[in-house]
Amino acid sequence: MRYRSPPSSSVRSPPARRSPSCPHRDELCRCAQRPPPPPTATKKVKKQQVLALTNAAVRDARGMATARAQALLALTKHELANALQRYAVPRYRVEQVHTSLYNPKARVEDVAHMTLIPLALREALIGDGYVTGRVKPLESASTLASDGTGKMVFVTGDGLKTNTYEAVGIPDASCFVADSSSGGRDGNFTSVRGWEKNRLTACVSSQSGCAMKCSFCATGKLGFKQNLSAAEIVNQVLALEDAYAKRVSNVVFMGMGEPMLNMNEVVKAIRTLNEDVGIGGRSITVSTVGIPNAMAKFAKHKLQCTLAVSLHAPDQVTREKIVPSAKYYPIEQLIEDSKSYFKETGRRVTFEYTLLAGVNDSVYQARSLGRMLKRAFGSGAHVNVIPWNNVDGINHTRPSGNVIHKFCGALAAEGVNQSIRRTRGLESNAACGQLAGQRA
Ligand code: SF4
Repeated sequence: MRYRSPPSSSVRSPPARRSPSCPHRDELCRCAQRPPPPPTATKKVKKQQVLALTNAAVRDARGMATARAQALLALTKHELANALQRYAVPRYRVEQVHTSLYNPKARVEDVAHMTLIPLALREALIGDGYVTGRVKPLESASTLASDGTGKMVFVTGDGLKTNTYEAVGIPDASCFVADSSSGGRDGNFTSVRGWEKNRLTACVSSQSGCAMKCSFCATGKLGFKQNLSAAEIVNQVLALEDAYAKRVSNVVFMGMGEPMLNMNEVVKAIRTLNEDVGIGGRSITVSTVGIPNAMAKFAKHKLQCTLAVSLHAPDQVTREKIVPSAKYYPIEQLIEDSKSYFKETGRRVTFEYTLLAGVNDSVYQARSLGRMLKRAFGSGAHVNVIPWNNVDGINHTRPSGNVIHKFCGALAAEGVNQSIRRTRGLESNAACGQLAGQRA
């Protein structure tokens, strides 16, 4: 006799244990197979969940860690909060990290030294490749001139390239200001303001090297090396504050590089200097040699800083000899764009004029310059006259004091305000146009 196996449906598994609260009589009731209800979220459970979340986030972040370190400097508070979110830490930790980065009394150069935050968080940040973004200058190459001007040389910190860039600290005022109202047609002008005490100006670089190749500039001779990050720019200011044990009062983007060619990082750095380091927007000056369409883009960021346009000549032909890139940007258009910048931002534009003997220093050129600026800006025009500082291997000559004063007198006679930038840091190659990123 053949034995028929029971239909599969009739094969019964051992009865499942029913939940005591099950209202159903069927012993196969699915209640028995349901997972037990989650325990009520006690404080202990909640703590475990946060811990698990933190561990998962840390594992996740470790997986994402890249070879390139992520600087905390120059992150906005929002970005900083996002960066810390993965560690599921309370909101006040963001403030503590911010204080450890910027507060002069509490700031540190290393995440490991951020004692305001717990050790576990410091370790997690370090493990995930976070650094403060603080970089020490090369001691062997940094110098302090007898007039107090200090030059610092840094090496780029992305671990891939090792280019140099420089920052200069200039204590007290670097120029005397002449007022056209006190000047006269006889070529004299009266200094109305001398030293301003307690100022520390930071002249910072936005790039290592520079692509613009201005004929008088040591940086231009190097050619372009690389853009600096916002953290590298902000670090220059903080390093100068630490070295001088004094708050920086003014920042000028007149070191190495053309800021408009690294606009995103420069804008980020300006916002950080303003909002986090506490330097007034109006105490920040950005200098540009003129990049087509860049001024309009820069104006859209609605920053309060001053724009300084490096003009160096009153006409297109002379300008092209000094600034090779000027051939792509007619001088009339540059003046028009400067006017538009003023209209858009309400911030005045000043003009930089490096005085080169026999090239752009005649009284005739001063008058042409004065007339052009007066036409465009009325009595609000201002020229910063910078007598050229010697750079080895560059074939220019610094004009004599007499020529400089005649030039300024002619500008004053046209009703244009001007100041002569007093040379600072000459002996340590820290003066305008002398920055070449020398390592020693
Ligand atoms: S003067 Fe300024 S823009 Fe010209 S080469 Fe030097 S750093 Fe570059």
